[in-house]
This record gives sequence, C-alpha cells and structure tokens, in this order.
Amino acid sequence: MSDNLATLFSSEQLAERVTVLGAEISEAYANQKLVLVCVLKGSFVFTADLARVIDERVNLRIEFLGVQSYGEGTESTGVVQITQDLTKSIEDEHVLIVEDIVDTGLTISHLLELFKTRKPASVKVCSLLHKPARTRIDVPIDYLGFTIEDHFVVGYGLDWAQRYRNLPFIGVVDNE
Ligand code: 5GP
Repeated sequence: MSDNLATLFSSEQLAERVTVLGAEISEAYANQKLVLVCVLKGSFVFTADLARVIDERVNLRIEFLGVQSYGEGTESTGVVQITQDLTKSIEDEHVLIVEDIVDTGLTISHLLELFKTRKPASVKVCSLLHKPARTRIDVPIDYLGFTIEDHFVVGYGLDWAQRYRNLPFIGVVDNE
C-alpha cells in the first residue's frame, strides 16, 4: 500500500540549506576540533550531507548515538531511551548534536542534560527541522534548517513506522 506524499522540501532546497549550515559551522569551528553526534536513526541522511559541507579547517570526528523516543506511532511517549552510546569520551571536546527534527523538545533536552554530565568543552544543537507548535520544553537550537507547521513529515532519514527514510525529499503524508 502506498500513501499520498506532498513535497514540503525538495532535495534541491535541502541541499541549498544544508550547504549554508555547513558554511556557518565551518566558520564557527574553524581551526578547532569538533565531535558531530548523529542522533540515530532519523538524522543519518542529514548528518552525512552536513558532514560533507563542513570544510577541512574543522578537525571533525563523527559519533553515532542511538535514541528511541517513539514506538511505531507518531506521538512522543516522553521517554527517551539510549539504544546505542558514543564510542569515545567527549570530555573537553566541542560537541554538536545533529537532530532531524525538534518536535516537543523532550529528546534534545534529555540529551543536553546527559551530555553535560560528561564534561564537554561545549555542546550545541543543529536540527534540520523545528515544529514550534508542539513545543513542551524550550531548547536552544544553534543551527536550524527550517521551521515547519504541525505536520508529520517523512523522508531524508525521517520515517513513518520505519518506512520512507530513503526518500530524497521531505514530504507530508496526506491520505485525506
Ligand atoms: P521530540 O522529542 O522533540 O518530541 O521528538 C524528536 C524525535 O521525534 C525526532 O528526532 C524524530 O525522530 C521524531 N519526530 C518528531 N516529529 C516527527 C515528524 O514529523 N516525523 C517523523 N518521522 N519523526 C518525527
């Protein structure tokens, strides 16, 4: 069975915005070490594209953090479970958490608290999308791709019950 998908951001629009974010991050962390933390699974595509537009002035290392905040549904349970931890310490390191979307803010807020206990030099947040209509906790987003309305979006790494992560664009499922 396939759903109707309306394109919200085309792959060209995504590439253009990600390039701008990469330039900003390159400038901010030039001549420094940076740990890019890809929050799995949703941000794997965004992180892969973002990493390739952060230039060689940044001494970059990439870590993966497995997080599960939803079951098979589309509502946050409010419970954030770490399913896979970082492989190396982040003590005294500059850290940039890369998220696909900040929705209620619960996941990022939990990760910021967790990371602070590990004594990094700094922790900042980069999110491709932000859905302010659903905020439950205000979290700082230092680098943001796009602000969106209250739609459930898929594609470019984002899933619906594990499906659609492979779409090269961001779409809204529209079965009306
Ligand atoms: P938060 O904890 O901010 O409510 O949610 C963060 C996580 O929920 C995101 O990393 C993402 O995995 C999931 N999420 C929130 N909104 C959406 C959405 O519109 N589409 C999809 N596919 N996942 C979402």
